[in-house]
Amino acid sequence: MQLEKRDLYRFPWSGNDNPIGWLEVTDKCNTYCRGCYRINGMQGHKSLEQIKEEVQLLKRWRNCDNISIAGGEPLIHPEILDVVAYIRSLGMKPLILTNGIKLEHDRQLMVALKKAGAIGFTFHIDSEQNRPHWKGKTETELFELRQHYADMAHSVGGLFVSFGMTVYPGNIDFVPEMVRWANKNIDRVHGLVMITFRNAMESAYDYFAGGQRIVPDTSYVVDEEAPPEAYLTSQDVCAKIQEHFPHYAPAAYMGGTQTEDKMTWLVGAQVGSQHKMYGSVGARMMELFQVYYHLKNGAYVVYTPSNKIPKIAFLLGAVDKGIRKTFAGLWREIVRNPLELFRPLYMQSIGIIQAPDMLEDGRVDMCESCPDMTVWDGKLVHSCRMDEWRLYGSYVTAQPRQQATISVDSIPVADAKEKSAEVVGK
Ligand code: SF4
Repeated sequence: MQLEKRDLYRFPWSGNDNPIGWLEVTDKCNTYCRGCYRINGMQGHKSLEQIKEEVQLLKRWRNCDNISIAGGEPLIHPEILDVVAYIRSLGMKPLILTNGIKLEHDRQLMVALKKAGAIGFTFHIDSEQNRPHWKGKTETELFELRQHYADMAHSVGGLFVSFGMTVYPGNIDFVPEMVRWANKNIDRVHGLVMITFRNAMESAYDYFAGGQRIVPDTSYVVDEEAPPEAYLTSQDVCAKIQEHFPHYAPAAYMGGTQTEDKMTWLVGAQVGSQHKMYGSVGARMMELFQVYYHLKNGAYVVYTPSNKIPKIAFLLGAVDKGIRKTFAGLWREIVRNPLELFRPLYMQSIGIIQAPDMLEDGRVDMCESCPDMTVWDGKLVHSCRMDEWRLYGSYVTAQPRQQATISVDSIPVADAKEKSAEVVGK
């Protein structure tokens, strides 16, 4: 089913008023993920002073509600507790994007991070990571690890927890299993983030930086030796989920910067209990929540520590179709099974991100109002393309490589004469 923009809410975020600020505290990492767009270990850990400057810039110029602390792997930064505490002291929400390796056997670190002010974690776990002790495990076998982190965070309490995965044609059939597992754990898993895999730089283009032709050396250069990759869109992933979960429906989106038919961010929020899923909120509910939060807190929002929703929320069905449908399903279930009236209701988001696409003419179709802008050398850049700035001091531009064409001028004079003589001779 093709999604129509009219049925969705376009997030009102902009470069100047955006809920998210992306902060990379180090480019070092304790594992390696296929599709990672950060060259590891080029600059190492940032100083606390530099980190504070970047956080101030994000707060002042982007009006962020939360700071997504990333890397490399942020938990290997020796001053990570101070970083979290500093962000909290500025009234923003520190969310940690981690592979979780440092937490696997260290619940105390999670307690300390929460005490410092962390609102939660997004765990990136998938089978394309060379994760110590979990190498070669299938996505399904990795549920044991995902469950471990979800239970740990639940036992600490008061933490937002989501799980991220990179989606390729090779593992898209696993996506429904991921949603099923998350639904079963709706009391401790607040969301899923699915990022479609991209290797953007192909040999069909010439690349330039600072006016010079370059041979790109970023981690997202296509390996021409490898079999050609097919790329998924956000709508492919959405359709796969809807095929298996009729209760799921996206409600909000962000578009592309170059094309009108792309949804770079596609966000839905499912509603259900540990017993059953009932539906998804609609576009009006998403709009109301962004506007209400901005009016109340002066900033837009992505993350909230709790995903519990009071049953009185069904009153919003007056303005939102998704809520109406969801609560109709809940009341039908309560009639059949009155116990459901006493079970808590939760919301669980699914965010699908379609990474940037290189267009035929060399333009790059980014996410509009990119929510993951980060700081490089005092300016805001797309975090997915920061290595271009680190390597070349600017974004790399691409031009379709000129197909070699034979022009008369390129034919040596002698030949031309011979050829014309031949024609005359005939
Ligand atoms: S454009 Fe921004 S939001 Fe989109 S993938 Fe890149 S960094 Fe992330």
